[in-house]
Amino acid sequence: MHEYSITISIIEILRELISEKKISKIEKVNFEISPVAHIEPGSIEFYFECLTSEDPVLGNAKLLFNTQKTMVSCMDCKEIFESEKISAVCPRCGGSNTKIVNTDDIRIVSVEGS
Ligand SMILES: [Zn+2]
Repeated sequence: MHEYSITISIIEILRELISEKKISKIEKVNFEISPVAHIEPGSIEFYFECLTSEDPVLGNAKLLFNTQKTMVSCMDCKEIFESEKISAVCPRCGGSNTKIVNTDDIRIVSVEGS
């Protein structure tokens, strides 16, 4: 259900963009997903297809998802670095007092259409 409400807001954003930029057909939408967002791209695709199947502008648009790198901040020296893991050791001071700084969301990076 989480993905369902996200899909609804994505469609709202796209509809605004469509009327603003007078797009007649959206071909591709590029998304960026936070690694801590717990969003299933397949579910978004599924709901998007269901909700836009009758839509001449949005129907058949391809959704592409790109997961952001996990960014970690060191609480001791304030260094911010990329990490594969949630618990990481700071490359600068060696401290393990670290925290993920990515926000918990999904955003539209770009839209391709005509
Ligand atoms: Zn540090």
